[in-house]
Amino acid sequence: MKVLINGEWRDSLSGKMFAVHNPATGDVVGEAPLCGEDDLRSAVEAAGEAFADWSAKNPRDRGKILFFAAEEVRRRNRELGSLLTAEQGKPIREAVDEINGFANILEYYYALSAGERGEYQNLRGYGHTLVERRPLGICGAIIPWNMPAIIMGWKIGPALVAGNTMVLKPARTAPLTCGKLAEILAGAGLPPGVLNVVTGPGETVGREIARNPAIRKVSFTGEGGTGRQVALDAAPALKQLTLELGGSDPMIVCDDADIRMAVEGVIRGRFYNCGQTCTAVKRLYVYESIADEFIRHLRARVEEIVVGNGMERGVSMGPLNNRPGLDRLVRQVDAARERDEGEIITGGRAPEGKNYGRGFFFLPTLITRVPQDSVLFSEEVFGPVLPIATVTDLDEALERANDSRYGLGASVWTRSTDVIARVTRELEAGIVWVNQHLRTPPEVPFGGTKESGIGRENGRRALDEYTEEKTVLIRLQ
Ligand code: NAD
Repeated sequence: MKVLINGEWRDSLSGKMFAVHNPATGDVVGEAPLCGEDDLRSAVEAAGEAFADWSAKNPRDRGKILFFAAEEVRRRNRELGSLLTAEQGKPIREAVDEINGFANILEYYYALSAGERGEYQNLRGYGHTLVERRPLGICGAIIPWNMPAIIMGWKIGPALVAGNTMVLKPARTAPLTCGKLAEILAGAGLPPGVLNVVTGPGETVGREIARNPAIRKVSFTGEGGTGRQVALDAAPALKQLTLELGGSDPMIVCDDADIRMAVEGVIRGRFYNCGQTCTAVKRLYVYESIADEFIRHLRARVEEIVVGNGMERGVSMGPLNNRPGLDRLVRQVDAARERDEGEIITGGRAPEGKNYGRGFFFLPTLITRVPQDSVLFSEEVFGPVLPIATVTDLDEALERANDSRYGLGASVWTRSTDVIARVTRELEAGIVWVNQHLRTPPEVPFGGTKESGIGRENGRRALDEYTEEKTVLIRLQ
C-alpha cells in the first residue's frame, strides 16, 4: 500500500517501507510506507486545508459519501475480509463480519447526519439563544491491530459526519485493510485531505499525532500504557481526548443460568478473534453449585474449537496477531503455572504439527481454581486463555468482579430479575450485558470506566465527542 495524503497515494518521504506478515504462516502479505514525523506533518497540513470546505457542507451531504462507501464495502466484503484475515489472522467468517460491521457504522452515521441540529430557546431577559455544535477541526485517530476495520469506523464515522477532517494511523501489523477502506471512501467522493492515512511506528507517527498542536482532538484505542503516553503528549496543547484502553471483563454465571447458553457465551466471548478483543470475557466467576456441570460442558465445547489458518475451511480460531502478544500470553500462563495458581484443564500450550509452522498459535485454554490475586486476574489476558474461579453467592461474585483496575465490560447470566436489577446497578463497567457478552451495536455508547478509558464511542453521543458547543445570545434592537 501507499499512504493517503491530500487525496494522493504516496510513498513515505524517506522512501522506506515495512513488511506486513501473515500471522498464520509468516509469509509477507504486503508492504506499507515507513513514515515519520514529516509525513505526518504534511498530512496535518492537508487536513487543515480541507477543513473549511468540508465543515461548510450540509451534514447530510457528508453522510451520503459515507453511505456510498458503505455500499461498496459490502459489495467487496469477501475480498476485504480475505485481506483482513491475511494480515490480522482471524477466521474469514469473523473478518467478513467485521467488514460488514464497518459498513453498518458508516450507515448509522449517515442516518444521524440528517438529524444534526443545534438548540434554540427564547430566554426571557436575554433574547434568542442558539447553541450550535461546531466541529473541532483536525482530529487524530490512532488504532490497534485487533479490530482495525471496526475501530477505524468508530472514529471516522462520527468525526467526518460532524465536519472534522482527520489523520489516521493504523497499527503496524494490520495497516492494509485500513488502506483499502480509505481507498473506497476516496472513490465514494471524499474530497482530498478530509481523511489522511499515515502508516509507521507509534513512537514517531503516533506520537506526532498526540503532540502536533494543529490536531485538536486525539481518539486513541490501544493499551493503557500507550494511552497514558498519548495523554501526556497531548497535554501541552490541551487537546480533547478519547481513550479506549484495555479491559479485563468479568462474566458471572449464577446458579439459575441457562448453562448451554452461558457456555456458548464464553465460546464467543473469550475465543472470538483468538481472545484479542478489548471486551472479551477475561475472568469467569461461576457459582460453586453448578461449577462442575458448567466446566464439563465448557471444556467439551472448547476442545471442539479448530485452530488454524483463518482462510482454511472449518477453522474456528486463528493465530494471535503478533509475536510480542504471544510471548506475553505465554509468560502469563507460565507465571500462573510456576506459582501454582490454578489448574490447566485444557490447552496451556501451542498446538503441535507442521500446519502450525511459523504461526503465532496457542491452544484455547481453561484454567480453573484461579486465586483472585493471580496475574491472570490482575493483568489483561489478551489471547485465548480463560481463568475461572467459583463463587458462593452474588455478594462474592460482585466483590471479585469489581476487584480490578479495569472497567470496560461485564456480564451476568441469570433468569432472576432481582439479580439483574442489582448487578446492572453495582457492576463497575462501561457496558453491562445480561445473558450475552461482547456485542457492541453502533447505536449505543461504547467505552470504559476506571482505567479502561475516557470518553465514549458509538451512539449519538459520539458526535458530541467530535464537536464543541458554541453559544450565541441575540438581542434584537
Ligand atoms: P498499542 O497501545 O500497542 O498500540 C495501539 C496504537 O498506538 C498502534 O497504532 C501503535 O502503533 C500506536 N502507538 C504505540 N506507541 C505510541 C505512542 N507512544 N504514541 C502514539 N501512538 C502509539 O495497543 P495494541 O497492542 O495495538 O492493542 C491492544 C490493546 O488495545 C489491548 O490493551 C486492548 O484491550 C486495547 N483495545 C481497547 C479497545 C477499547 O475500545 N477499549 C478496543 C480494542 C483494543
